[in-house]
Amino acid sequence: MAELIDGKALAAAMRAEMAEKVAALRAETGVTPGLGVVLVGDDPASKSYVTAKERALAEAGMVSRDIRLPAETTQAELLQVIAELNADPAVHGILVQLPLPKGLDEAEVIRAIAPEKDVDGFTPVNVGKMVIGEECYLPCTPHGVMKMLERAGVATKGKHAVVVGRSNIVGKPVAHLLAAKNGGNATVTLCHTATQDLAAFTRQADILVVASGRPNTVTGEMVKPGAVVIDVGVNRVPCAGTKTGYRLCGDCDFESVAAVASKLTPVPGGVGPMTITMLLENTHQAAVRAAKRQRS
Ligand code: NAP
Repeated sequence: MAELIDGKALAAAMRAEMAEKVAALRAETGVTPGLGVVLVGDDPASKSYVTAKERALAEAGMVSRDIRLPAETTQAELLQVIAELNADPAVHGILVQLPLPKGLDEAEVIRAIAPEKDVDGFTPVNVGKMVIGEECYLPCTPHGVMKMLERAGVATKGKHAVVVGRSNIVGKPVAHLLAAKNGGNATVTLCHTATQDLAAFTRQADILVVASGRPNTVTGEMVKPGAVVIDVGVNRVPCAGTKTGYRLCGDCDFESVAAVASKLTPVPGGVGPMTITMLLENTHQAAVRAAKRQRS
């Protein structure tokens, strides 16, 4: 049976360290890290993600500027909000909760965020810097995956890492960070829906990262015995016996994968809490850089 990598406990320890760093920054420079959090529309999953992020910010001693906009918000109105946050010196980072309601151009909204406030690491400037290895904000979920591997003592150098999924926010950056010479330094295979015989690739993985957005994409028979499996997926599946009528599950079949893997992340309580923790790290980093600019 696989050892579970407890993202919740890891995140709690890192957030306690972060609260100390935030208090020290405030004492030293008078600066309190501030995050502008923009939520457009009333998608229940997005609302609950934003609430969890705002709670974590408050617990770490940071402040959030909460901006709630109706689903009918126009592109021009949203861009105006971003411009105001870009210009506000008390806002060190900006988070626009995705997905945006239909009709809004996500790519244009992301590009409008000032790169020095892009704590999600989604702007083309940050992505480019990540790829060429310059100082930047790493995207939170991929960075969280790397931290989990590091803190769980999983050696990645020279290992074969297989990533299932190639989205801009998870699969592609995870594959990049795993392959980077100053990062995971692993040999990486990136799989997607055009991959022929997915299991032939996943069975070769020493480290398997699954971010397909579909429950049961990977089952135990697709995993090499002893592999480390990071399940990034968060899916709501109908479940009659629960208060909400649904339960959360990952992109792997938990039971069968746990029987084969050496280490596995649970869902919930795995990658999710680490994603929020890396958002806190980036927001703190943005405030540190802003304080330095103020002084120089
Ligand atoms: P996405 O944009 O839907 O991308 C899914 C990717 O998986 C695509 O590249 C797709 O291939 C590939 N894929 C789908 N089914 C596949 C299959 N059967 N075999 C091989 N590849 C397959 O999803 P995402 O935004 O990357 O998110 C992935 C998962 O992570 C979701 O469950 C999401 O909820 C979760 N997530 C969790 C966190 C967290 O903090 N825990 C954060 C972000 C996302 P194509 O490119 O060919 O379509």
